[in-house]
Amino acid sequence: MTETADLEALRTDVQQFLATEAPHDWRDASRTQEDFVATQRDWFQKLVKAGYATPHWPKEWPGGGRSLSEQKVIYEELAKADVPRLLLSFASTYHAFATLHECGTEEQKAKYLPRILEGETWCQGFSEPGAGSDLASLKCKAERVSRPGGDVYLINGQKIWSTMSQYADRCLLLVRTSSDGVKQAGITYLLMDMKTPGVTVRPIRQIQGDEEFGEIFLDNVEVPVSERVGEEGKGWAVAQATLASERGLTLMELGYRMRGALSRVAKLIREHGHEEDRGVLRDFGALVTEVDAVCAIADQFLDNRIKGVERVGDASIVKNAYSRALRAYSLLGVRLGGIDEQYLAPITFGDLNTGNWMADYMNSFAWTIAGGSEEVQRNIIAERMLEMPREPKQWVL
Ligand SMILES: Cc1cc2nc3c(=O)[nH]c(=O)nc-3n(C[C@H](O)[C@H](O)[C@H](O)COP(=O)(O)OP(=O)(O)OC[C@H]3O[C@@H](n4cnc5c(N)ncnc54)[C@H](O)[C@@H]3O)c2cc1C
Repeated sequence: MTETADLEALRTDVQQFLATEAPHDWRDASRTQEDFVATQRDWFQKLVKAGYATPHWPKEWPGGGRSLSEQKVIYEELAKADVPRLLLSFASTYHAFATLHECGTEEQKAKYLPRILEGETWCQGFSEPGAGSDLASLKCKAERVSRPGGDVYLINGQKIWSTMSQYADRCLLLVRTSSDGVKQAGITYLLMDMKTPGVTVRPIRQIQGDEEFGEIFLDNVEVPVSERVGEEGKGWAVAQATLASERGLTLMELGYRMRGALSRVAKLIREHGHEEDRGVLRDFGALVTEVDAVCAIADQFLDNRIKGVERVGDASIVKNAYSRALRAYSLLGVRLGGIDEQYLAPITFGDLNTGNWMADYMNSFAWTIAGGSEEVQRNIIAERMLEMPREPKQWVL
């Protein structure tokens, strides 16, 4: 069979799976956050079983080993079927996976990757109240101490903005093990069980009523030294694997999902009688081009990464392009949807598929901050990729 025929066969398989298994009622079934989480768990398990949850994983894992072209087909079909985005398992299948795959030991991969497929979820404990854009200034302190069962890190501090942390089984945790030298040098990367004594999660209630994030308080928490990724004090380099996944890898899925979801805008154009409106058609055309550009940039990023020629700043370009396109996409939806779209859905997170354009538009701004703000990405592109002069010190927050 030719590659095109193979892809069409895959497309048919995905469509057939979705025809019977797609949870069409998921928005109605997600009127509370607990219901939303239950729906997410259920849908994740169906996708794992069908082999469509982790197409970006290597081929030795169930559902893995898909080519980029195959992944695109899967994401486009998921978007067209309007199924939920996997917000709950996003950090597990992307961030935890990328970190373990690139920097974890064989034991760590064998221990954690199968559990992710069984439904274990992860959160990311990087940001702190005083360390967001300037992540390297984090203060959460870890001291190595001896215990009868082996050495542990004794941790005290606080994390914030940790997505879905109140539901997470495990945490990708950055801690400070030393204050000597440059601030990046004393950071260590740990894998923490969220049920460890001393871990408290306090959900953060957002203005629209959801609790998408949590604050994590760590009070004399003990994490075995065997749960460290990379060497002590070398966690900054490991964190780059997590962040590159957040800024680049995930966005291929999201870009292609947005492309699949352009049909939602086309539907609005038809339903609201804008088919002859040249202004609307011009804006839709511009949006289609922008979304295509995001997909092309994400493809190039992944291609460079696979070939080992990724440049500093590549992931930042993808992230900024995606968040801008997402804003344009959801804003056009709000504009075309009229008054019906001005209310808020019961669950407002999920960026492009809450089913409510106003919620999606509000969420689009979150993408300009999550994983490093748009301004910070522009600094990375300017200073580290284009080698432009660094910004004056007094402007650095
Ligand atoms: C939807 C969402 C999900 C998130 N999920 C997680 C998570 O799971 N885990 C986690 O650890 N964190 C998470 N975060 C936190 C996120 O990483 C931080 O919000 C982000 O890094 C910015 O940090 P800050 O909020 O402290 O803002 P600040 O760093 O205080 O920045 C405030 C403003 O100043 C600007 N600024 C800062 N420095 C500069 C500079 N040098 N030049 C120009 N402008 C600058 C920023 O662009 C921003 O506009 C999430 C955030 C969002 C919005």
